[in-house]
Amino acid sequence: MPFKFDVQKRAAYREPAPIDRDTPFQSMMERFDVAAEILELTPGFYEYLCRPARMHVTSIPVEMDSGRIKVFEGYRVIHNNVLGPSKGGIRFAPDVTLNEVKALAAWMTWKCSLVDLPFGGAKGGVVCDPEELSPKELERLTRRYTADLFDVFGPDKDIPAPDMNTNEQIMAWVLDTYSMHARRTENAVVTGKPVALGGSKGRREATGRGVMTVALAAMEQLSLTPSDCTVAVQGFGNVGGTAARLLAEQGCTVVAVSDVTGGYYNKRGLDLEEMRAHVRQNGGTLAGYEKAQSITNEELLTLDVDVLVPAAKEDQIDREIAEDLGARIIAEGANGPTHPEADEVLAEKEVLVIPDILANAGGVTASYFEWVQNREGFFWTEDEVNQRLDRMMRRAFDKVYATADEHDVSLRIGAYVLGVRRVAEALRMRGIYA
Ligand code: NAD
Repeated sequence: MPFKFDVQKRAAYREPAPIDRDTPFQSMMERFDVAAEILELTPGFYEYLCRPARMHVTSIPVEMDSGRIKVFEGYRVIHNNVLGPSKGGIRFAPDVTLNEVKALAAWMTWKCSLVDLPFGGAKGGVVCDPEELSPKELERLTRRYTADLFDVFGPDKDIPAPDMNTNEQIMAWVLDTYSMHARRTENAVVTGKPVALGGSKGRREATGRGVMTVALAAMEQLSLTPSDCTVAVQGFGNVGGTAARLLAEQGCTVVAVSDVTGGYYNKRGLDLEEMRAHVRQNGGTLAGYEKAQSITNEELLTLDVDVLVPAAKEDQIDREIAEDLGARIIAEGANGPTHPEADEVLAEKEVLVIPDILANAGGVTASYFEWVQNREGFFWTEDEVNQRLDRMMRRAFDKVYATADEHDVSLRIGAYVLGVRRVAEALRMRGIYA
């Protein structure tokens, strides 16, 4: 019997306190609700697990190059730390909201849990447009944000990492600022930092590599051979660019990729090496690339391919796109690329969706390796990192697949069940401190 979600029961779970249900936190809650019902979470556990443990909002004054002082708003949300120190990136964006950071922090909790990492979930954000800041302004902003959150961060407390518009250099400033306040060099306080400062080999490519591993596992489930598979990738950045390259190395034909400037299609397969070179030489985008047919992002998302990898941003696959979608497998490189309304349509069409909290978990898994190496003071080769990553991602895929099968639900709900269950079990054992 397929699992049927009882909408009436959801009302009971919401009591007694109201929960913020705006998008994208709403998007997370829609799926959490179903997992909560399958797990028969008590209303108390339900409320505890969907609410963030702590939310920090800080006003960050920065002296701009002009001498004027500008104040930016910054967030750090610790969603849960029952399994260990909280882990999650810092996003710099003009439209980042506390609601979005809350959703991303919760996704980190379920993601770390389902991959069996000893971490809870967190996320940070600063409302700013990095393109309008000079490198010095960006450095001052990062350092003041870190100093404001000095009591929150720590290798045993809360460990940031890069996310949208933050990079290795910004992590280096976080490391340095934290270390200056702590009066010792503390490289385990942040991951995704440069290798020269204790970063891990393989970290930069880890999210795309994880996407490749789970996409291959899904092909195997559908008895597809990589060399017979076509692939379309939305987003040609860290995640999308790497996933496209690695899937091509496995024999797949990557027929389409897109970035913020639009989509590029060649039914015989794209020359990814040449496209990467074009991006390097043309200000970081594919604009002006002429050796492929130009298509829109919508056309890319609905192409008749075997595998679609959305690796750009949230809410790209809505109900309409889902209805027209031609892929057999979706491997979600981005966080939240599929709107909850599309889930049902995709299930009816029997599209195998590898959900974000599983498909893009390679990044945080390699971050865990980086933290372990920092604490041991002993570094691994790139091969060791990649082999361990492949093993952990494959094991997580198999566990999610088995859980989904057991409850007759989608892989997405299976992933939530697995992620929420481990945290709930740990909470039950720890009990509620009075
Ligand atoms: P990135 O900035 O390196 O690349 C983003 C790509 O998406 C760029 O090519 C950009 O041009 C493209 N893009 C932006 N808007 C677009 C649009 N409307 N249509 C098509 N393409 C568009 O970012 P990234 O690190 O690759 O992250 C991509 C996604 O993966 C985000 O959702 C991020 O949260 C998620 N993610 C990243 C990591 C990581 O380790 N980098 C880990 C987990 C999840």
